[in-house]
Amino acid sequence: MPTVVLKNPPAGLPKQIQVSDDAKVGGEGAVYFSVDGKFAVKIYHRPRPEKEQLLQYVMRLFSKLPPEQERFILPPLALIESVDGQRRVGFVMRRVPPNYQELVRFILNPVCAAEQFRQGKTWSHYLKVARSIANAIVVLHGKGCAHSDIHFRNFLVNLDEGDAVMLEIDGVVVAGFLPPQVAGMIGFMAPEILTQGEKPSERTDRHSLAVLILHTLLFRNVMLPLIDYDDDPNKSEELGWGQYALFSEHPKDNRHRPRNLGLPLYRRGALSYRILTPALQRLTERALIDGLRNPELRPSSRECEEALATAYDELWGCWQCRQYFPYPYWLHPVQRRACPFCGERCRPPYPVVLELYEERQRHNFVSIGRRIVLGDGFRILADMVEPTRKPPLTIRNERVVGHVELDTSQGQYRLVNEEDGVWTARSPDGTQRFTAQKGQSLPIIKGYFVHFGDGKRLAVIAE
Ligand SMILES: [Zn+2]
Repeated sequence: MPTVVLKNPPAGLPKQIQVSDDAKVGGEGAVYFSVDGKFAVKIYHRPRPEKEQLLQYVMRLFSKLPPEQERFILPPLALIESVDGQRRVGFVMRRVPPNYQELVRFILNPVCAAEQFRQGKTWSHYLKVARSIANAIVVLHGKGCAHSDIHFRNFLVNLDEGDAVMLEIDGVVVAGFLPPQVAGMIGFMAPEILTQGEKPSERTDRHSLAVLILHTLLFRNVMLPLIDYDDDPNKSEELGWGQYALFSEHPKDNRHRPRNLGLPLYRRGALSYRILTPALQRLTERALIDGLRNPELRPSSRECEEALATAYDELWGCWQCRQYFPYPYWLHPVQRRACPFCGERCRPPYPVVLELYEERQRHNFVSIGRRIVLGDGFRILADMVEPTRKPPLTIRNERVVGHVELDTSQGQYRLVNEEDGVWTARSPDGTQRFTAQKGQSLPIIKGYFVHFGDGKRLAVIAE
């Protein structure tokens, strides 16, 4: 059992760590796990001279992250002095629990996802994982770093929890500091890296992040070239992802459009980005149509994270296959709304859709671009009605302020207030007005405004 000695370990870290003999050997180095199960140690095979300097920089940069950020990445905690008395270059990091697995296992293709669905997972778990991935990149970009190697093997995932942890933070790119050490994985690299030899940066990360998020949500690489561009397969690949890179659902060019696009996934279909919430659809278009060759137009990791966070409130369950998907309230007439997994049409009672507004100046409410899809028994959580709040990472500790009930005698939904304040609903022309104290309810009528009390958000009943 090798003994790893750490260099100036910070408080809370031992001076020495015992690791087991079997390592996970990669191209750049080997990763050993401590026998107490707490740590992982990466030892480089042939480190570049400036490697320790970069590690120290990264260590300082990420040393004081709050727990809600640190959970998404594995920052170096201390450098290595020696292994069994021999001088080696490497670092120690937190160990991800062994029940976490590489993201690729869950998303490579629809068959991988179907296996998870059979075991009781739903698409909502994948949506949470996508948000965790975006969060990891938000943390990195927030510190002025780029990852340069974002792909589906560099995240470890716990699908039950919707959690993802990013690997390979030791390869980050810091502008003006050290050159990137990898160009990325083909399939996720921004096209300008292949066509112009552009170096990985925050902008190229934005492309990789969009491709990875969509891969996680649609179980396919939405940039996959479907035709040959050269007799030499390597050359063809390079052209297909580079010079001829094309979004599979480009509105005017269908060279890379899968034949089964838009068919229900359970009938060998390929999911379209158009099943996603309008916010995610717009981000996809900005990243992969407008921004494909104009990197400055690509959405930031924070924009992606926010759109993924709010998508959770727009989910609806299929009455037939029990899968969850964004309720397509943007499709009219209502008969066009169907489950993208089994193809069954949504059935009445259809959900209610609230559009949220916030007061910017007195009596001046503006849309915050957030919608809430609600059915019978759905809960209204504090983060939906309180201003400036966004959905929490987990709703376990979120306060319930109300719920929705279906009044079957009237065929109408009602909004039940469970808070101390008074809720009001009024018609657009102001002629009709209802109020609800704690324990009372308001009718939900299309076009009406619901106010959750002073200083709180306003909702318009959009559907
Ligand atoms: Zn279904």
